[in-house]
Amino acid sequence: MSQFQADVAKRRTFAIISHPDAGKTTVTEKLLLLGQLIQMAGSVKGKRGPHARSDWMSMEQERGISVTSSVMQFPYHDRMVNLLDTPGHEDFSEDTYRVLTAVDSALMVIDGAKGVEDRTIKLMNVCRLRDTPILSFINKLDRDIRDPIEVMDEIESVLDIAAAPINWPIGSGQLFKGIYNLYTDTITVYEGGHGHTLHDFREIKGLDSAEAGELLGDDADDVRDEIELVRGATHEFDLDAYLAGKLTPVFFGTALSNFGVKEMLDGFVEYAPEPRARATETRTVEPKETAFSGFIFKIQANMDPKHRDRIAFMRVCSGSYSKGMKMRHVRIGKDVKIADAVTFLAGDREQVIEAVSGDIIGLHNHGTIQIGDTFTEGEELKYTGIPNFAPELFRRIRLKDPLKTKQLQKGLQQLSEEGSTQVFFPQHNNDIIVGAVGVLQFEVVAYRLKDEYKVDAIYEPINVAMARWVDSKDAKKFEEFKRKCYENLALDGSGHLTYLAPTRVNLSLAEERYPEVKFRATREH
Ligand code: GDP
Repeated sequence: MSQFQADVAKRRTFAIISHPDAGKTTVTEKLLLLGQLIQMAGSVKGKRGPHARSDWMSMEQERGISVTSSVMQFPYHDRMVNLLDTPGHEDFSEDTYRVLTAVDSALMVIDGAKGVEDRTIKLMNVCRLRDTPILSFINKLDRDIRDPIEVMDEIESVLDIAAAPINWPIGSGQLFKGIYNLYTDTITVYEGGHGHTLHDFREIKGLDSAEAGELLGDDADDVRDEIELVRGATHEFDLDAYLAGKLTPVFFGTALSNFGVKEMLDGFVEYAPEPRARATETRTVEPKETAFSGFIFKIQANMDPKHRDRIAFMRVCSGSYSKGMKMRHVRIGKDVKIADAVTFLAGDREQVIEAVSGDIIGLHNHGTIQIGDTFTEGEELKYTGIPNFAPELFRRIRLKDPLKTKQLQKGLQQLSEEGSTQVFFPQHNNDIIVGAVGVLQFEVVAYRLKDEYKVDAIYEPINVAMARWVDSKDAKKFEEFKRKCYENLALDGSGHLTYLAPTRVNLSLAEERYPEVKFRATREH
């Protein structure tokens, strides 16, 4: 195996999915602690310092939601782990969807007291579209949780995936004693108060040992019976079934106390898949091919207020990036020299010297990069499966100070590049319409326009119910359509023609009247 192939084989690229409040942020923090990216849990947020953090970030924190997604890379054992953060709030689900196109596996965090919640179900369905392997962590064992057998049943029935416990909790809440590894016959003994630092918890070999008997006291027989029962009633771990997305290995613990997270991470780096092959319009690309290629799955404007730039996040799918290399920007057919790609180590940007398949790099975007764009070393490839969803809510946006129209347009265009909102410019008037999938996005846009672009804007209701991207192979019919439907047509932020329908009925009628025209609810970039 060449050095390059060995480097690729080390990569483990994943995202955490969970219902808000299940503990995604806390788990992330402990992973960074285990990866030695931070010295003490709790410092992730504090590290940037108050001046470096934009107000937008503080708004995010006030709301207790994670609007941004970032990427964290850390070495663990002999692997290189790439963790992609996903926004927790459902108004940003498209963003999450696209992040999930860039990973090879996912970690599902479940609140042990609540079990499977609705956001988890939705995210799980997204993972299923690509058979993404999923590892599960049942969190908050320091509290009274539901009967773990019940939670396992719920995962199997509600999420429709086989669940194989790797370890099993002994009690929970006040009575939480530890976790028992079903495969190594080892108890890791719980001890509170080590949430912020790395700690070697005591291990007891053998459930039947005298030491275990001492720990379990009067409950020893009950615990042994329960474990017997669990062995009989649950699935055994099967690596192939996991890799096929049909079985999830389950770990228990409490992220807050940093207990069980290490065991989960150890399991993760052992089982999780290395970078997987990816489909393009013409062929499947293998991660160990040496020619470079990758696609953009996310764009983020003004990540760092000091830099005021837009970063396009690229998943490297084959080959390697090295500083100063030339890449072909396939959509616009241009070669670009990339000397300053970045990565985000626990929130701090560092220059990437080299990155290989499985890694994420950030490119500076000066307006030429869109979500879904493919970059190669020259080959005409286009990665598929990174959709833009049609917005479902619309507002007209108006300036308090009309002299700032240019600023407003620029701001909206840049923010719509990120993919969560869309901007539309109707052809028959000078309105500017913002479309979003969730209401919160309107607020975020207004806030960021003010914060990042210094424009004060207000929203007004508008009579638009749906938007569809339109195109046609029949040029003549398309011209006729464009003439007749002039009042309904608009250009989106990247210049694509869009039909804005005041009602669902209006859209159906237009679709019937112009069968040659394709009305698309998603635009594949
Ligand atoms: P997220 O919304 O999924 O990112 O969840 P957070 O990580 O922000 O956690 C939500 C809340 O649950 C916070 O108040 C955490 O301190 C708390 N929490 C997270 N993990 C645990 C845990 O293991 N035990 C307990 N008791 N609380 C936890």
